[in-house]
Amino acid sequence: MATGNINVTAENIFPIIKKFLYSDHEIFLRELISNATDATLKLKHLSTLGEIKGDIGTPIIEIKVDKDKKEIRIIDQGIGMTGEEVEKYINQVAFSGAEEFVEKYKDKVEDSGIIGHFGLGFYSSFMVASKVEIFTKSFAEDSKAVRWECDGSPKYILEETDRTERGTEIVLHVDDDSLEFLEESRIKQLLNKYNKFMPIPIKFGTKEETLPLPEGAAEDAKPEKITVDNIVNNPTPAWTKSPADLKDEDYKEFYRELYPMQFEEPLFNIHLNVDYPFNLTGILYFPKISKNVDPTKDRIQLYQNQVFVTDNVEGIVPDFLQMLRGVIDSPDIPLNVSRSYLQADGAVKKISSYITRKVADKLVSLFKNDRKAFEEKWNDIKIIIEYGMLSEEKFFEKSDKFALYPTVNNEYFILDELIEKIKPAQTDKDNKVVILYASDEKTQHSYIDAAKEKGYEVLLLDSPIVSHLIQKLESSKENIHFARVDADHIDNLINKDEEKISKLSDEEKEKLKPIIEAAIPKETYTVQLEALDSNANPFIITQPEFMRRMKEMQATGGGGFMGMGNFPEMYNLVININNELISEILNTKTEKKQERLIKQAFDLARLSQNLLKGQELTDFIKRSFQMVK
Ligand code: ADP
Ligand code: MG
Repeated sequence: MATGNINVTAENIFPIIKKFLYSDHEIFLRELISNATDATLKLKHLSTLGEIKGDIGTPIIEIKVDKDKKEIRIIDQGIGMTGEEVEKYINQVAFSGAEEFVEKYKDKVEDSGIIGHFGLGFYSSFMVASKVEIFTKSFAEDSKAVRWECDGSPKYILEETDRTERGTEIVLHVDDDSLEFLEESRIKQLLNKYNKFMPIPIKFGTKEETLPLPEGAAEDAKPEKITVDNIVNNPTPAWTKSPADLKDEDYKEFYRELYPMQFEEPLFNIHLNVDYPFNLTGILYFPKISKNVDPTKDRIQLYQNQVFVTDNVEGIVPDFLQMLRGVIDSPDIPLNVSRSYLQADGAVKKISSYITRKVADKLVSLFKNDRKAFEEKWNDIKIIIEYGMLSEEKFFEKSDKFALYPTVNNEYFILDELIEKIKPAQTDKDNKVVILYASDEKTQHSYIDAAKEKGYEVLLLDSPIVSHLIQKLESSKENIHFARVDADHIDNLINKDEEKISKLSDEEKEKLKPIIEAAIPKETYTVQLEALDSNANPFIITQPEFMRRMKEMQATGGGGFMGMGNFPEMYNLVININNELISEILNTKTEKKQERLIKQAFDLARLSQNLLKGQELTDFIKRSFQMVK
């Protein structure tokens, strides 16, 4: 038997380890299973190289919990270690790794980022154990099994032992403040969280399985039950396979495996697979985005070599894709660094832009291969895509090929198609193609109707960031202009400089304006006299495109409007001087009646824009009833 001192420079790191990352104590199990996995993969590798004689069988990892003895055992059938190797890898390498780690992060315990997810390795076992033993026997011929023991002081014991099987068994003597980890349910939960897709089968207990009845069995025959290993993981998850070997159903199956509580099927998936200039595999899913989606639930999971790391992929996946679901597995993402460092890291930047590109490519191919199906999905995915167009320039450039613009008649165009189609009818006198849109079919119905009557196309753009989007489209494409149907009278929205014949003389117009202004709140409504079709409504309320858009952009954030104060509520009151009612107003002799006509017409116009509320609405209803009496 040999005893020795672990070479301690930082006085005693064990208390620090123990205190470290209080909420993250649970990672000890992941670390030890990762080591067991590494040792088993190494064994398999040596075997394929022919360096191990004989059959290695199908090695598994086993987790055992003994509540009475307060022990957790992690047992593998991997390459094991000789005494010298324990001396070297556990006493020196692993220890200095842990020491360095603690040195680096002891002041940052509060940082709840991904710091602490990796790097502590074997010594993380001291976060939950007061004493740790290793029983191990190397695969090397004639090697002797050894036992190592350490109670958390810098002293350790290393001695020969009589283990006969190849591999390593770690025994954790669980500390009294970590007894939770002796609960079967807690261990199951951890295995499910961190080890669900690790590459070596992990056994935790046994389970009963019912054998199928043999053919021709008697009717009352009881099916035979057998006890089998309870394997808790799927060692070959879909993302580790080649896309060529996976069918649509396999991807859906994997989605259910990943999110067992998620009942909605994904819309489509994107298989990521790259090995240069960085290594990354994964599958991303586009979910249906509805208003009640909880963005903190069922998020994209980040793995390193099939070991779960985190479901916070901020900084790695571009913001607009955070709403996607699925898995990313990459050994090339530096994990024990802070978020801000991560964002500046070159490799991570490349990963982020690779993901963006893959998503764009997938959207292009979906659009090309089955346009109909893509159109049907559009409403469920548009938010993500529009957000992406606004936030990632590269994505915006590609979006020309798949971003759809639906009309109120449920036709879908990409921008170029739309422009081509409406150009002949909707080009104004300044040679701009005016793209009309509505944000709500119900409240803007009369305006949509007026546009349709002219034979114009009206888009239905109803997502909350539309103002930002059209602002961007206008500035990146030449000669197009967006206008919401209620931004002005239709003839002004697409101004063709046609001569308008006015029924009123200039004198009459000059007389009319102050009469109307006197009867309405003119701080909010600017009177605008227009010679329109005689059957167009006499009073029309419009909200100038520019003001409204700025207001909306301010409300949805960004665009540099912060701190500019609120935009005032401003409308135009378009008076159609060719409508008969206007002549009537002008010719009415009694001032009272004149005012009543204006108020009534004004209220009707407000009503059609949903602007009449409260006392004014009550008065209007009363007045109207009196009129029909
Ligand atoms: P890392 O896994 O990052 O190398 P660890 O502290 O987890 O750091 O482990 C240190 C070393 O101890 C490993 O590199 C390996 O050589 C050895 N080791 C740990 N666990 C096992 C095991 N179960 N079987 C064989 N070797 C192991
Ligand atoms: Mg390790």
